[in-house]
Amino acid sequence: MLQQIENISQQAMVALRNASSEEELQKISRQYMGKNGELTTVLKGLGALEPEARKTTGQAANKAKNMLQQLLEERKIEISNNAPVLDHPLDLTLPGLRPPDGGLHPITQMSYDLNDAFLSLGFVLFSESEISSELFAFDNLNFPPDHPARESMDTYWLDNTEDKQGAERLCLRPHLTGASVRYLRKYGAPARFIYPGRVYRNESTDARHERAFFQYEALIVEKDFPFASGRLLINTILEKVFGHKVNTRMRAGFFPFVEPGFEIDMECQVCGGEGCRVCKNVGWIEVMPGGTPHPNVLRAAGLDPNAWSGFYINIGLDRLVMMRYGVEDVRLFHSGDLRFLSQFR
Ligand SMILES: [Zn+2]
Repeated sequence: MLQQIENISQQAMVALRNASSEEELQKISRQYMGKNGELTTVLKGLGALEPEARKTTGQAANKAKNMLQQLLEERKIEISNNAPVLDHPLDLTLPGLRPPDGGLHPITQMSYDLNDAFLSLGFVLFSESEISSELFAFDNLNFPPDHPARESMDTYWLDNTEDKQGAERLCLRPHLTGASVRYLRKYGAPARFIYPGRVYRNESTDARHERAFFQYEALIVEKDFPFASGRLLINTILEKVFGHKVNTRMRAGFFPFVEPGFEIDMECQVCGGEGCRVCKNVGWIEVMPGGTPHPNVLRAAGLDPNAWSGFYINIGLDRLVMMRYGVEDVRLFHSGDLRFLSQFR
């Protein structure tokens, strides 16, 4: 039996040394030392031997097993050290994997196009923190003290500041207009500037309401700035963005920070004013409110309302994007679905 153990371990050693892969090593290990392996089978016969012979044979068998086990581990390391990095032949002539092309989101693209249009008319780009205060979000903008927008139902107030007032009561900006007073206080008038960005409303989200969305606002402040010039400005911007003349109409509108205020409608670009689902068969779509800065707002900005006037434009980016692409459900633009968005590259 000792001879048998010796023969088996010799064979196993040769097989292990010749093995060239981990799979082969495992196979050899099973063949000799597995549950029904050759060495294991021999060991099972030990019980039939005389006690003395059982002892020597058992020792020899264990020694052989340990030795094979050790050799197996060594070969495993050797094989993994010598293994090629690729487990298949490398063909350098195969075409590579093309990374997915990136692209601007249609709303971002619209915002950039508006930037181009305004900057070409001498406007400058301004931005401020998304955290504002009651002073800049409401007080400076002529919102009366009991205006509902000041309630926490509409505005996100920051923890531990809600029982404070004015500059110390902090919020996520509910609109961009606060930046207009901040800019004028810093740089004075005359001024032409744009200040696009994200705003926050404490609303339950549904098909038409989001808690965070992008707005685009512009303000021009000059001495004697007539309303007609404001309208010309809007028509010029729309023409630059859409690449052709766009008909607009003005209606009276009320916002605390303007006097007088207006709503601007543009002719539906999808149906050309005929009436369609996008414009709800009206032929017009409301795209931007605005108006002349209220005297109280000019005062808050440190300007004499008798000397200065101007024009606010607050552009609905979503609406312009709907008009540009003729898409009636604006939620598609916020869905993050690349199958939809990648059409607009
Ligand atoms: Zn239409």
